[in-house]
Amino acid sequence: MAKIVILGAGLTGLSTAYHLEKNNFFDFTIFERESTHGGLCRSVKHDGFTFDYTGHLLHCNNTYFQTVLNEILPPTTRNTLARKSYIHSHNHFVPYPFQMNLHGLPTEVIAECICSFAKRNHQHNNPQSFHEWVLKYFGTGIAKHFFFPYNQKLLQYNLKKIHPSWTGRFVPKTTIKNLFTGLANQENNSVGYNHTFLYPKQGGIQTFTDNLRKKITCSIKTNYNATNIDLKKKIVSFDNGHTEKFDTLITTIPLKNLLQNSTQPSSCNIKKNHRYLRCNAVVNFNVGFKGTSIDKHWIYFPEKKYPFYRVGFWHNFSKSLVRPEHGALYGELAYLPGQLREKELNQRVEKSIEQSCQIFGLSKNKNIVSQKILHLPNAYVIYDHWREKNLPALHKALRDHSVYSIGRYGAWNYSSMQDAILDGQKIATKLLHQFIPAQIYKKKREKKKKERSSEAHAIVL
Ligand SMILES: Cc1cc2nc3c(=O)[nH]c(=O)nc-3n(C[C@H](O)[C@H](O)[C@H](O)COP(=O)(O)OP(=O)(O)OC[C@H]3O[C@@H](n4cnc5c(N)ncnc54)[C@H](O)[C@@H]3O)c2cc1C
Repeated sequence: MAKIVILGAGLTGLSTAYHLEKNNFFDFTIFERESTHGGLCRSVKHDGFTFDYTGHLLHCNNTYFQTVLNEILPPTTRNTLARKSYIHSHNHFVPYPFQMNLHGLPTEVIAECICSFAKRNHQHNNPQSFHEWVLKYFGTGIAKHFFFPYNQKLLQYNLKKIHPSWTGRFVPKTTIKNLFTGLANQENNSVGYNHTFLYPKQGGIQTFTDNLRKKITCSIKTNYNATNIDLKKKIVSFDNGHTEKFDTLITTIPLKNLLQNSTQPSSCNIKKNHRYLRCNAVVNFNVGFKGTSIDKHWIYFPEKKYPFYRVGFWHNFSKSLVRPEHGALYGELAYLPGQLREKELNQRVEKSIEQSCQIFGLSKNKNIVSQKILHLPNAYVIYDHWREKNLPALHKALRDHSVYSIGRYGAWNYSSMQDAILDGQKIATKLLHQFIPAQIYKKKREKKKKERSSEAHAIVL
C-alpha cells in the first residue's frame, strides 16, 4: 500500500508526482485508465500530420509556472508566437477581441454595438448570470453579434442559467476609447490572456507532457480504470480486478464519475450529486491539405449557420505538425451528452468539415489529403447555479475522507495547462507539510528512490 494514491496521469497527476518527488517523497502510486499518460494533452500522429486533442497552446502568467516551463520545455525547444486570431462575422474576419475591433463590419452592426454599449444597462450592477454579466459590460449589440451566439454554441446551455464566475480572467473588457480606436482600424490586438503563446517545436503538445513524464522516476500503472472508490474503507477498485488501499487519494478523474462510482459512508450523502454536475463534449475534426498560405492561428465562429464554434491551423503553431508544403485545419463543435443522436452528431460534423473547408478554399478534389476526428467526452464544465452553490461542500466532504479532487475535471472548473501544473504543485506542498515528518519516511524514501532510479535506467537502456 502506498501512502498516496493518484488517479489519472494527465498533466495534473503528473505534476503532483513531479512535485512529490522533487521533495523526495516517493511513497505514492499513479493509476491511469488509458494505455499511456497525458490525458487531454496527448497528440495523435496520422498520415504524416500531428493533431492534438484540439488546439492546446501554452499561456504563462505565473512566475513559478514559467520556471517549470523552462525546465520542461526550454526556450530552444518551443515557438513563441504572437496571436493571429479572429472572429468570423458577416463574412469578415474581425481581429480578436471582437469588442475592440469592429472595423470592417457592416455599418448598422457597428452602430448597434456602439450605441448599445453607450446605453448599456446599469441595472445589472450585481449580475446573477453570464447573460446579465455580458449586458452589463458590453451592451446588447456586442452581446447579440458575438457573446450570446458564441457562448451558446460553445456551452450548449442557457446563458441565463450560467453563473458569471465562468468568465474569470478569460474575457477582456472594453471601453468607448477601445471601440473607437478599433473602428479607425488600429487593431487592439495585444489584449487578453493569450496575446502571445508558446508551443513545442516538435511533436505537438504531447512533447510537453512527455518531457514532464521523463522528470518523474515512478512507473505509471496504465490500463487501470478506477471503477469504485470506497470512501469509508479507503479502497479504490479497478476494472482489472486490482484493489488499492490509500491513506490519501488525489484524484484527477472527472468529479462526476468519482461521485457516481463512490461508495459512501452513511454519514456522507454526496454520491447522488453526480446527476447535477454538467459538462459538454467536443468533437475535434482535423483536415490535412496541400498548401500553407493560410496564416491565421485560430478563428471564432459565433454565427448560428455554422455548427462549429472555432477553427484553427496546426501548421501555424509548428511546421513539424504537417507534411512539407502542407497545412492542417482543426475545428471544434460542442454538444451536451444525451442531447443528440449519433446520426445527428455525425451530420453536424460532416457539415462543419464541409463549411469550414469551403471558407478557407479547401476541397476534396483539389487539396485535402487527410482527415481525422477526435472526441473529447468531457470538455467545458457548465458553471450553472447548482455548481456555484454546492461545489465547495462536495469538495469539503471528499477532503474529510482524505480525498482531494483536483485538476480541470477533478475540481470541476474551466482551467488551463498552467493551472494543472500549479494544482499539482499546491496539493503536493499541502500534503508534504501535513504529514511528512522527515525521520519516519527517510529510510523508506531512500530505498524507493534507489529502486526507482535503477528502474528508470533499465527503461532508458
Ligand atoms: C477543448 C479544450 C481546449 C483546451 N485548450 C487549452 C489551451 O489551449 N491551453 C491550455 O492551457 N489549456 C487548454 N485546455 C485545458 C487543458 O486541457 C487542461 O487544463 C489539462 O489538460 C487538464 O489536465 P488534467 O490532468 O487535470 O485532466 P486530464 O487531462 O483529463 O487528465 C485526467 C486523467 O485521468 C484519467 N482517468 C479518467 N478517468 C479515470 C479512471 N476512472 N481511472 C483512472 N484514470 C482515469 C484520464 O485518462 C486522464 O489521463 C483545453 C481543454 C479543452 C477541453
